[in-house]
Amino acid sequence: MQNWIDLRSDTVTKPSPAMLQAMMAAEVGDDVYGEDPTVIQLEEYLADQVGTESAVFVSSGTQANLLAILSHCGRGDEYIAGQEAHLYKWEGGGAAVLGGVQPQPLDFEADGSLDLVKVQAAVKAEDNHFAKTRLFCLENTQSGKVLPLAYLKEASLWAKKQGLRIHLDGARAFNAAVKLGVSIREVTQPFHSISICLSKGLGAPVGSVLCGPREMIKIARRWRKVCGGGMRQCGILAAAGLYALEHNVDRLAEDHENAAHLAQHLRELPGVSVDESLVQTNMVFLSLQGHDPKQVADFLKTRGILVFPSSTMRLVTHLDIHKGDLLTVVKAFREALLSQRSPSVRKTETVSEGSLSGAW
Ligand SMILES: *Cc1c(COP(=O)(O)O)cnc(C)c1O
Repeated sequence: MQNWIDLRSDTVTKPSPAMLQAMMAAEVGDDVYGEDPTVIQLEEYLADQVGTESAVFVSSGTQANLLAILSHCGRGDEYIAGQEAHLYKWEGGGAAVLGGVQPQPLDFEADGSLDLVKVQAAVKAEDNHFAKTRLFCLENTQSGKVLPLAYLKEASLWAKKQGLRIHLDGARAFNAAVKLGVSIREVTQPFHSISICLSKGLGAPVGSVLCGPREMIKIARRWRKVCGGGMRQCGILAAAGLYALEHNVDRLAEDHENAAHLAQHLRELPGVSVDESLVQTNMVFLSLQGHDPKQVADFLKTRGILVFPSSTMRLVTHLDIHKGDLLTVVKAFREALLSQRSPSVRKTETVSEGSLSGAW
């Protein structure tokens, strides 16, 4: 089996031998009966970490967000979210399909926040013509960007004053906390409910957790069953999540460092631009000018590197990307980009490690 350097997403991590050991040793029971001790342990552990009364283990981040919306909103209600937000754009319209809940998308600001003045203007007045605005959703990290703590507090106070619930899609909230050097609770406390992915940078193979007030999580558990998400002896999966939370949080800093290194060296290549202000956690966005993204991706594949072809290419670091892989990636990009240029240009430039060596 080839060891790919897979930069497509941080969802691609494989469980380590130690994580697999923890899974094999997990005590299990029927979680639909509330009898799986490992699932209970995971839910209590994470609720305590993020500072909510309760939590529920679910199959995916999509399901966690769906259950949050279904628990906060009813038929004919509305939630406000970013135009590019995962829970609006990338989850199949689940809240509308299954809950009769309408989204009100708004453009994200450059820093990944939603401008509260614009959000305020989108809140519907009480009027029989309108859906009822119930819920305000933020995402952190948003495309790798960390929302400022002061903004989270302000957003939370604003939402409470409006009588709105506020939900965090915190698929990568631990990346935000590690970047800021604060506990996860500082990032999550301003929200009524929070969804956390265990299967992104934290490295578990499956699973997310929805955290929130006891009454809300009770409702979410019912919706989980309705959605077919009641799992039986899933302590095996919860054990991977617990292992991830106990061992893989602090090391997210390495992923952030690796992304910064990649950004710093890739931006020096011809036809590449990287906005380094956007490289805050484990994602790098490259704009490729005058290159065919598909050709670049195909070339990288011949060097054992996987990326999604796109004119703005997203590279994601994670626990299966090692420091030693970075030089391989930069060299391969350099080769890919030079090989696509006209022969007269290519003659004057050679592929050399030059300034790269020693920088890692
Ligand atoms: C990955 C992700 C999710 C959930 O994804 P699943 O693949 O359903 O686990 C939700 N929100 C954000 C921001 C994500 O990146």
